Amino acid sequence: ESKCREIERLKQLVGSNAKLKSAVESASLRAREAKSVDACFVFDCTSSMRTNVEAAKQKINAIQEYILASLGHGSSVRFGLVAFRDYTDEQQFEILPFTNNVQEVRGFLARCQVQGGGDPCEDVIGGLEQAVLLDWQASSRILYLLCDSPSHGRRFHDSDGLDDSTLKEFDNYPNDPKQWAPADLVHAQMVQLRLHFVGMTFSRHCEKMFRVFSNLRDIGGDHGLSTLVLKPDGSAKDFVQCVLEGTRSSLSNSLTLVSSPQWSLADQVSEPHGARRVLGLQELCWEDWECWPQQQVLVTALTAVGRRRTAQPNCTARVLHIRELPFAKGNMRYAFPAVDERGSKMVVKVYQFEGNRWNSREAVWADVLTQTYAQIFAAEFSRRMPTMPLQFVRNYIMEASHWKDYRFSALEDFIPGLYQKYTSNSGFSGSNSSLAEAFSHFTWHLSSGDMMVTDIQGVGSAVLTDPQIHCEGSTYFGKGNLGNRGMDNFFMRHSCGEICTALGLTRSPLQMGDADITEAGTVSHELRTVHSSDLDSSLSSVMSAPGALDRLLTRSLSSLRSDATPRSSGSLLCSGPLLCEARCGGAVEASGDKYLKHLRKYGGIYCESCKLQVKDSMCRAPCQRADCKEHVFYSVFVLGITGTAAPTSCRHCRALECWTLIERVDETDSVE
Ligand SMILES: [Zn+2]
Ligand SMILES: [Zn+2]
Ligand SMILES: [Zn+2]
Ligand SMILES: [Zn+2]
Repeated sequence: ESKCREIERLKQLVGSNAKLKSAVESASLRAREAKSVDACFVFDCTSSMRTNVEAAKQKINAIQEYILASLGHGSSVRFGLVAFRDYTDEQQFEILPFTNNVQEVRGFLARCQVQGGGDPCEDVIGGLEQAVLLDWQASSRILYLLCDSPSHGRRFHDSDGLDDSTLKEFDNYPNDPKQWAPADLVHAQMVQLRLHFVGMTFSRHCEKMFRVFSNLRDIGGDHGLSTLVLKPDGSAKDFVQCVLEGTRSSLSNSLTLVSSPQWSLADQVSEPHGARRVLGLQELCWEDWECWPQQQVLVTALTAVGRRRTAQPNCTARVLHIRELPFAKGNMRYAFPAVDERGSKMVVKVYQFEGNRWNSREAVWADVLTQTYAQIFAAEFSRRMPTMPLQFVRNYIMEASHWKDYRFSALEDFIPGLYQKYTSNSGFSGSNSSLAEAFSHFTWHLSSGDMMVTDIQGVGSAVLTDPQIHCEGSTYFGKGNLGNRGMDNFFMRHSCGEICTALGLTRSPLQMGDADITEAGTVSHELRTVHSSDLDSSLSSVMSAPGALDRLLTRSLSSLRSDATPRSSGSLLCSGPLLCEARCGGAVEASGDKYLKHLRKYGGIYCESCKLQVKDSMCRAPCQRADCKEHVFYSVFVLGITGTAAPTSCRHCRALECWTLIERVDETDSVE
């Protein structure tokens, strides 16, 4: 019977592939838009550059192949070339307008004579002036400047100690007027054209010039364009590596910008409406909690069950001791320590800003709902990856009539330990973020491209809090919900690691490929993006043969069973202890088989001392779902402590309901 239920579940999974397919399709349209690249090489073509130009000639194919491979599905690249020499040369510039035909690029390079130059300095500014005249169109634009000598003028080289004749030998035009206004102008134009800049120099004589260029690009503040100066060691291979490094760095910057023309992030709001309250912080100490002012509050726990996003919000009147001063301050909120009647440590979180929309019922409701949803995903993630279970701490809506002037705030269990932020909702990833990133990717996959839990932060690597959920077209999940924009942004910066692979997650077309350059200097790449046609054929072959669906389901079922406990690999990040779900404040070290056993036996994760009470207070009732003969098990002890209502459906039915809930985001459901 339980097998039937699993099959039912998997049927939904296959059904939802159609939804995932359409999510992948629409993402690939957005990817095509974002992944068009114009790459212009502006290079010194005088005698001293002979070996480097040779390298470029040989490697231009590899470079194009790499850019396409690293962008992945749906990308396109055009190349433009500007070869520059010096004032005294017969042919000072040779220009190839943007083209996507690499043969043209090769032909141009073959015809290009490496010659002339006269004095060491060259007309670099002139080369840039030609480049800004090209027909820049793509959404991502990169200008590579390759040179081994600075441009003319004292502004660009260290000539202070030199006597006049030595200086003249190095630079025939030390007072070249081009070093001033024209140089400023061409850099302003480059920024205006939104060109990323990758400087590659083969000589230390260019250091000052690149410093000046960097400063010129910084004028006018943060434009979000990358400026990179690299020093290849002169070998062809290193040259290609530098081009690739510059490309990757520019693209991850520019793709992010393209996808978000008017970025306003919940965690980056600098001047929200409503003035910021300033409260002093006080060190955290629980000893005198009985002296903290008592507050009569209404605590509402949300339970996400059934297709309705929240069913039976469970209200209880409680008495809390809340300290006058907060102990922590985030970007957005203050955290106050509080202790309830039973002595459980809790945290009250309020927004720092005055004004109705900040600490409104809707805003707090959205935060609590977001965390409730995140926990559904975390539970499923932990079931599939029990070697690294994750847990979102429980939180509640708190309504107080006389606490400061905050009527609504969020209340949650206190997590002891060192607080860490792994990812933001804008695509940022800190160090040690592979588990957090894999979890975000997993939530997207599980919800068939509908939702993504981001902004992963918490204590240790397992107990998390304050997530955000991206869900296109939904008004739930509050101000941090950036919809597709947020999900795209995550994928543009995410490359799948071992955990994603172990979970078999579908890749998004917005991810960049994992191309690598091999010893021989050729590009090897493996595009694992799921193309919609692949999904199509696998689905249609399933649908066409009679009985095939059942066979597929049985097969997936057995693979699911055998994958239930993936062998832990030493290199995988292991998660830390979880919080006892009875809210005693205790930590539980449970992972792998132990975690799954624990879950089966007690329906939750409890510490040693709570386990006994959970066991003693276990209740059994028939599942109230139609056609279900299973029983509901719950602990009265836990219900009392968490202030939640007894579940009405069994574990399997609840899992199914949660799945349906995640799969269907139905805006017609009302918040209450
Ligand atoms: Zn020269
Ligand atoms: Zn991934
Ligand atoms: Zn406990
Ligand atoms: Zn049931």
